[in-house]
Amino acid sequence: MPEGPQIIFLKEQLEPFIEQEILAAKGTAKNIPYSDLRGKVLTEIKTFGKELLLCFPAFTLRLHLMLFGKYAINHQSKRELQLGLEFVTGEVNFYACDCRLIHESLDKVYDWSTDVLHPTFDSDKALEKLFRQPKRLICDALLDQKILAGVGNGIKNEILFRRHIHPASLVGQIPEADLIYLVRDCASFSAEYLSWKQEGTEKESWQVYRQNTCPRDQVPLRKEKIGKSGRSCYYCEKCQILYLSNS
Ligand SMILES: [Zn+2]
Repeated sequence: MPEGPQIIFLKEQLEPFIEQEILAAKGTAKNIPYSDLRGKVLTEIKTFGKELLLCFPAFTLRLHLMLFGKYAINHQSKRELQLGLEFVTGEVNFYACDCRLIHESLDKVYDWSTDVLHPTFDSDKALEKLFRQPKRLICDALLDQKILAGVGNGIKNEILFRRHIHPASLVGQIPEADLIYLVRDCASFSAEYLSWKQEGTEKESWQVYRQNTCPRDQVPLRKEKIGKSGRSCYYCEKCQILYLSNS
């Protein structure tokens, strides 16, 4: 699933289309008025967590790539096209994604301060929300988009490894200082991940996510679906501490 940094990277690739009008729109996404899109000028592109927001004067097109979404810029994939937009200088095509129109002001729809890559990200507010859920598993809490928008499975696994925290730890049992660092890591690691995308070094940069061996201990990593989110956790039993209550 594309995480916040990947969506910002996508936004950067689409920026040349800003101030261009849509020449043609097609696809199978429901509730998209394809013929009405023709002639509309893309004024701005924003992101919120894992959502891409294409802004037009009277509405916003919101795209969420979900678990298996893909996009293609200036070429086409053989999959079923959800939404294709043709501009003067090129085209963008989206597949297996969720497309919606937003007519309200985005400031009313989104709380930007929950987005870990937004300049207004409020780590204290995220921390307060975590403190209110002491019995939740940290691997689930980090993926909660209402607390930390943009954090996905890769970011979750890497920051837990860096802080030596086992993914099945309970939020309320993790030392407060570690929890504070973990929330800050969501923002700083996401920025680092974005730079991997920009520099094309993503594949060799992951330490544990989709890896086999702990780089600290040279022992095999565990891969397990933990928590209600059912997403894979990659962790080292030797160097990541499991914080559980005794009761
Ligand atoms: Zn280890």
